[in-house]
Amino acid sequence: MTSIQCDGCGRKPNLWEWLRGELTDAGYAEWRHPGLAFREAGYPLTHATRARCEALFYALFGRALPEDAGFLCPQCQDWTLQQLPPMIQHDLDRTQAYY
Ligand SMILES: [Zn+2]
Repeated sequence: MTSIQCDGCGRKPNLWEWLRGELTDAGYAEWRHPGLAFREAGYPLTHATRARCEALFYALFGRALPEDAGFLCPQCQDWTLQQLPPMIQHDLDRTQAYY
């Protein structure tokens, strides 16, 4: 049995997701690594951006990005895709203001 938990909201798969995850080939296809959501939102999680990603993750979810991040549930991925781009833009604007 897979034991997965969302790094964002802390929830575990609900019964439907669990049944599908455990009993079908689809698995937990919609539960994906936080780095993937960050990359889709335009901010890849790399060594160089790690510190900034941790701060953004905290701003998004009010909790720390785990050292070895695991999964974000579909809702938290949606939240990331909605919220992260304006936050990054704000960051860029601020950075450019220094020059
Ligand atoms: Zn979640």
